[in-house]
Amino acid sequence: MKTIFDKIISGEIPCDEVFSDEKCLAFKDITPQAPTHILIIPRKPIKSLKEIKEEDQKLLGHLLLKASEIAKAADLESWRTVINTGEEAGQTVFHLHIHIIGGRKLNWPPG
Ligand code: AMP
Repeated sequence: MKTIFDKIISGEIPCDEVFSDEKCLAFKDITPQAPTHILIIPRKPIKSLKEIKEEDQKLLGHLLLKASEIAKAADLESWRTVINTGEEAGQTVFHLHIHIIGGRKLNWPPG
C-alpha cells in the first residue's frame, strides 16, 4: 500500500519542497513542531530504519549529508535530526524519513 510520502514522490499530492535530487526529496512538515521542521526522505521505498540493508549504506550517508546541508541552508545554528522507528517510537508514516527540527530551544530527554 502506498504511503503519503510515496504519493508525494510520485507527485500525486503536493509538498512544500525544499530540496530534491535523484536519491531523495526534502519538504516542509505539514504540522511543524518548531519554526523549521523539514523532512528528508529517500526516493527508494524503505519502510523504516528496521528494514535497511547493507546495500542502503551509501544512501543513508547521502541522506545525512543532505540533512546537514539543508539545515545549514535554512540558517540553523543548532537543530535536531530525528528518525522515529516503529509505532511506539512515534512513527506514523511508514516510509523512512529524517526530521530536521530547529529554530527554537529543544528539550531533552524527549517525551
Ligand atoms: P513520523 O511521526 O516520524 O512518522 O513523522 C511523520 C511526519 O509526517 C509528521 O511530522 C507529519 O506531520 C508529517 N506529514 C504527514 N503528512 C504530510 C504531508 N502531506 N506533507 C508534509 N508532512 C506530512
